[in-house]
Amino acid sequence: MKKTILFIAAVTFALSSCTPAEAETAEEPPRLLHTAFSLTEEDLPELTSGLPEEVAEKITARPEYFLQLIRDISPWSSELTILVNKETGLSSSYIPEDIVALDDYSSSLVLSRGGHRLRALVLPALLAMTEEAAQEGLDLMISSCYRSYDYQEGLYNRYVARDGQEAADRYSARPGMSQHQLGTVIDFGDITNAFADTAPGQWLHENAWRFGFSLSYPRGMESYTGYMWESWHYRYIGRDAAILEREFFSGIQERMLRYLNDKSSLLEAALLP
Ligand SMILES: [Zn+2]
Repeated sequence: MKKTILFIAAVTFALSSCTPAEAETAEEPPRLLHTAFSLTEEDLPELTSGLPEEVAEKITARPEYFLQLIRDISPWSSELTILVNKETGLSSSYIPEDIVALDDYSSSLVLSRGGHRLRALVLPALLAMTEEAAQEGLDLMISSCYRSYDYQEGLYNRYVARDGQEAADRYSARPGMSQHQLGTVIDFGDITNAFADTAPGQWLHENAWRFGFSLSYPRGMESYTGYMWESWHYRYIGRDAAILEREFFSGIQERMLRYLNDKSSLLEAALLP
């Protein structure tokens, strides 16, 4: 009998120690925007600060998808999304280690001349893209790829001597400021905007993203990118980044790369182990 009374007392105590009112106010852990990051809704303003409203709205509407792409891109450690523009450049000693000669692939690629070089990590996507275009009877002619710092310096200086610095800056990068130094950029066709109206030019415009390539200097964006429209200049950024650019950044590579560059440490710090 004594035992039963004690038991009832213990149960009553256990039940009374957590009243319904207390249960309601108990803190639930804030829901994460993505399981790989310690980011919650409260972090959205910081995550989207500095972006145009339409981009911020897209991220706020689909944070899970956005962060999934970010995780796969890993901008904090990837060389594919390094920002290279008129303000942020590469040092003269930046030379990719995996540069290969495209002459070794001349049976699969269409080359404007001998001597083109590119990073090996771009090759699988380039070969697959060339193969698919060929299936449709189109030649993606490669006209310019990797350029060293020194080569770009000579090129820029020649343009300045010919057209003056102001004009040269609209179409040519200063040494260290060229995406071509990355070894992940390809100029296609005849390197004029007549390329945009050719069948290969139109095909690339529609399909390059599927292989991870992105048009660096789109039409009508000169005031933002600093470069006039270059319908021939594609940078390999990887498929996830190409999707991110299309889905969230209105197809504007420069805007996405600036964002990834700005937020890279915030995102890396939020990575869960
Ligand atoms: Zn180019």
